[in-house]
Amino acid sequence: MTVQHPDPSLNYPAPALHVAGQWLLQASGGAREVLNPAYASTLGSVPLAGALELEAAAQSAQCGFAQWRQRSALQRSEVLRRTADLLRTRARYIAHVLTLEQGKPLAESLREVTLCADIIDFQGEEAKRLYGRTVAPRVAGILSQTVVRQPIGPVAAFTPWNFPANLPARKLASALAAGCSVVIKPDEQTPATCMLLVQAFLDAGVVPDAINMVCGDPAQVSATLIAHPAIAKVSVTGSVAVGKLLGEQAARHVKRFTGELGGHAPVIVCPDADIDFVLKSSVLAKYRNAGQVCASPIRFYVARQHYREFVEKFTQGAAALRLGCGLDPQTQMGPLTHAGRIDCMERFVHDAVARGARLMTGGHRVERPGYFFEPTVFADVPAQADVMRSEPFGPIALVQPFDTLDEAIAQANALPYGLGAYAFTRDLLTAHRLGEELEAGMVGINHYGVSQPEMPFGGWKESGIGQEMGPEGLLQYTQVKTITVGTPT
Ligand code: NAD
Repeated sequence: MTVQHPDPSLNYPAPALHVAGQWLLQASGGAREVLNPAYASTLGSVPLAGALELEAAAQSAQCGFAQWRQRSALQRSEVLRRTADLLRTRARYIAHVLTLEQGKPLAESLREVTLCADIIDFQGEEAKRLYGRTVAPRVAGILSQTVVRQPIGPVAAFTPWNFPANLPARKLASALAAGCSVVIKPDEQTPATCMLLVQAFLDAGVVPDAINMVCGDPAQVSATLIAHPAIAKVSVTGSVAVGKLLGEQAARHVKRFTGELGGHAPVIVCPDADIDFVLKSSVLAKYRNAGQVCASPIRFYVARQHYREFVEKFTQGAAALRLGCGLDPQTQMGPLTHAGRIDCMERFVHDAVARGARLMTGGHRVERPGYFFEPTVFADVPAQADVMRSEPFGPIALVQPFDTLDEAIAQANALPYGLGAYAFTRDLLTAHRLGEELEAGMVGINHYGVSQPEMPFGGWKESGIGQEMGPEGLLQYTQVKTITVGTPT
């Protein structure tokens, strides 16, 4: 297969760190290669921060906080609006870079970047609505009693590689809207997208010290920043395991913590659902970003009368997907982002097959350069299979039959995850019951669009603490203060 670059002049930029107002092309922690997952070929290398740069970044964030919090809400809002406009202007190039380092089809990358602009716009508007309240005094002689929200302070933020624009944008938009400064660590595999995002914020007028961006050894960076006295808040998007680790470190220093963690989303397909409609939207949703989506549909519980047809047609849909380089306009599913994901998929497949699951299609790495894995469908997967309990985070769908709605809801809620959950029904009462009883932070009935700038996004149970986006996302970066003023004499 040949790469079809839509515009050969669009190149991969040299990844750099942003520390104390300077872009650094070299740092004391060395450098790490950045790969194009469609070919396993080198794109460039990212400098790695050592102790020196981490200290400088934390101090810079403290200084940036002192400056940025002085900007009025209206001024911060204007800067965020300008950032959003710049991103829309630069969307094509940023999307190209995103696809180069992450692998998803270019159209998905473009949607991701424009969604970032919408998130930043929304949080910019919300900055103006950071309301408090006044409270009636209990005793005479008290002049005022108010409850206000103030920015928490410098934030250490950690984001994974699956949405390298959207996930940093969620954190940067809310933190900056609230008046906080940030040290952000994107994943080392996808640094350039975050770099271009940070550049847009800076070009729009964010105080340079208010945004620091570092890459490095993840364990060293997180341990150093979380323990640093300048850092007041920790926000991580990532796996449950890393979320727990960073949450423990934050708790040790009594620092505020937001964790947007992994999921294992169920989909309940009710007896009255329109099966063709369900299939069409479900195949697309499942294999979007090669299944590397935290709220990706994974466990499909299908009413028994539709089970056979669903398995057959879902399998056909999955098997027909066109795999390729994300820059090829024909591509429907790109590669996985790194080689380790392929090994992980193979382990899940071997375990499920060994336990008696029916492999309907896929299950193998694709013999070509790059990290491609076939869209995979399993039917009748035993509950003990690893993939039924651990997040596959890849192109694997699991289909199970059910007889009663009680049973389907119980199975959907059986795991310690609670991020996304979905259901398809044409019955209003059933829709309300599912909305009420599914244990997840986001429930989508009859569609998969649960991630929107205006709506809070966050997990229940081990899938997380706190929310991003929506007005709730902004509040994560504020703390409450009670102010009561009495008469001076
Ligand atoms: P990960 O947990 O391995 O890493 C997440 C981030 O934490 C990375 O930047 C990583 O470098 C950093 N990190 C900091 N300290 C670390 C340490 N001590 N050890 C390892 N990493 C450390 O996650 P991943 O594999 O990059 O991403 C996939 C996971 O993220 C999936 O579980 C997915 O569901 C989840 N995710 C959740 C959301 C959400 O909003 N809930 C969104 C996207 C992805």
